[in-house]
Amino acid sequence: MEGIAAAAEILRPCRRILVFTGAGISTESGIPDFRGPQGVWTKVDPDEFTLERYLRYPDTRRRSWRMRMTSGALDSVPNPAHHAVARLWAMGRMVGCVTQNIDGLHQKAGLPDGAVVELHGNAQSTVCLGCGDRQPTADVVRRVNAGDDNPSCLLCGGILKPAVVYFGELLPARAVEEAFDLAEQADAVISVGSTLTVFPAAYIPLHVVERGRPFVILNMGPTDFDHLARARLGAPAGTALPALVAALA
Ligand SMILES: [Zn+2]
Repeated sequence: MEGIAAAAEILRPCRRILVFTGAGISTESGIPDFRGPQGVWTKVDPDEFTLERYLRYPDTRRRSWRMRMTSGALDSVPNPAHHAVARLWAMGRMVGCVTQNIDGLHQKAGLPDGAVVELHGNAQSTVCLGCGDRQPTADVVRRVNAGDDNPSCLLCGGILKPAVVYFGELLPARAVEEAFDLAEQADAVISVGSTLTVFPAAYIPLHVVERGRPFVILNMGPTDFDHLARARLGAPAGTALPALVAALA
């Protein structure tokens, strides 16, 4: 792949690469791209799933848990693209990974918790809005499966909510701060599987570009910032990213 060699040449001197990932890195793990043509939001109305409605209407919570129960996302496994990111980290070439994904697949591929900033949270974990208790979402989904269609906290009776950012909810301040910190230290950025249309998340890679550092884009379709990229790869992440990382080894 010609583009791989060009991208590898650009990144060869870099030791603090920021990897920024979006839904496209996880589609090969069977997780639908929420905003793509087959995306979940083409089938349900995102206005139904705002934080306000989730808090106010038990029925919204029931539908939300039912979707989570049937999505299969909790059982998904990392694909070669996630493993390539973990390998790049192990090679000592990365400053960290900032992800828009909530699937936890970077960590499942072996990237340490401390190397991943999750801008939109992590669906593997559920939090009680009353007492702050955290537990695996899989445990809550088990209760839903057993017939408790609107499960509440077993400790305090509070509303349970997956630890993800809902529509109408601000991004977690600490994650945003950590992400900008990494962008400030990065000497290059690779954006994988993101159309770069969701803000404020897209500001993270753009901040690296603003500092005059090289930008490599790996995405199946066009992105809003292709004109800023020094190299652009249009291949599936599960093929292109392992090849790029191998070229840097
Ligand atoms: Zn509670």
